[in-house]
Amino acid sequence: MREIALNKTDGPADRKPGTRLVGAGRKPEWTGAVVNPPVWRASTHLYEDTAALARGPRTNADGHFFYGRRGAPTQWALAEALTELEPGAAGTVLYPSGVSAIAGVMLALLRPGDVVLMTDNAYDPSRTMGKGLLADMGITCRFFDPLDVEGYRALFCDRTRAVLLEAPGSLSFEVCDVPQLARIAREHGAISVLDNTWAGPLGFQGLQHGVEVVLMALTKHVGGHSDLMMGSATAGAELYARLRQRSQQLGLMVSPDDAALALRGLRTLEVRLLRETQSALAIAHWLDARPEVAQVLCPMLPGAPGHAQWAQDFTGGCGLFSFIFQGGDAAARNRFIDALALFGIGYSWGGFESLAVPADPVPYRSVSPWPPVPGDPADRFGVRLSIGLEDPADLIADIEQALAAWAGAA
Ligand SMILES: *Cc1c(COP(=O)(O)O)cnc(C)c1O
Repeated sequence: MREIALNKTDGPADRKPGTRLVGAGRKPEWTGAVVNPPVWRASTHLYEDTAALARGPRTNADGHFFYGRRGAPTQWALAEALTELEPGAAGTVLYPSGVSAIAGVMLALLRPGDVVLMTDNAYDPSRTMGKGLLADMGITCRFFDPLDVEGYRALFCDRTRAVLLEAPGSLSFEVCDVPQLARIAREHGAISVLDNTWAGPLGFQGLQHGVEVVLMALTKHVGGHSDLMMGSATAGAELYARLRQRSQQLGLMVSPDDAALALRGLRTLEVRLLRETQSALAIAHWLDARPEVAQVLCPMLPGAPGHAQWAQDFTGGCGLFSFIFQGGDAAARNRFIDALALFGIGYSWGGFESLAVPADPVPYRSVSPWPPVPGDPADRFGVRLSIGLEDPADLIADIEQALAAWAGAA
């Protein structure tokens, strides 16, 4: 048996992420002789005898067959791969969507009477959860300006149990000082949670930077092909056990078919991200020089808001960024988006195809100013681009003709 060669995860821990990406989660007992784990479609797991059946529920350990809700090797391989990619992690819980990952983590960490601090640039459904689900359960959600460290520190109280960070914000792209905000949370006995969907494990290592729970919408880059919905939360041993238990109590499950697709997406994550990042940077540079554009919000772009913090803490980027028009109105901005031929109009991002949506985060903020350009925020109109795998020269040509549509009738 060439078990050692098959089990690529046994290599030195200092191997590069791209190398670890290829072998992560591959165990001979899960894959056999084939490269990928089979799609184990299963609700019932059968036992040898009643004695084994009686042992089953007590052995609530990873990698043990029990019942469909605890998964089978397809889901285990994906969870294991995500754990291996997050240095310092002990385990990963999979959720049926990114939003259910956020809810699952919050419901694991918070009790009635607790306070959670949430970054003002949080993904809108996270904000809605704070004001809806969590408020309904007697949990208080307070928003903070991600760039105002002292204001954030001043919000902690005896009942603050958790903070939710997002860096960069997925609409407004400011980059907070994650290590510092996580350290302050820890000093106050609160657990820091990072929505790391933008950078993923290749671009930002959350646990290494002091965060205690790293969650992602796998729907975006890990899936990468706009055909599945899933979320994940990765943590050290103690918190992983809490997350896993709460997820089991909620009965959350991901299908083996989707897990197999996510695992397939994961294998090519690095090459897709490199291409997207290079293209996004080229397009951001080009937009930055255009008279129609007041501000490009792309942390990878030198001089853009958040660039210095990004350069200090991050090891990679992605294709998602925004820009704000110089003047114009909502109708002109919408004409621009409608004139794009190569960009789909739709939510989500991180797929192989480019997308564009209006980006006006003003209604989604409560304590911090936006956008980072002078003038009345109500007169500022933005666009968020998710750059896919098309040739960047074609994307730039497409944007150029759409800018003419924006200007023509403005
Ligand atoms: C899309 C997204 C989510 C939610 O993921 P779904 O799978 O769509 O529920 C969470 N956080 C961020 C930053 C996202 O962009």
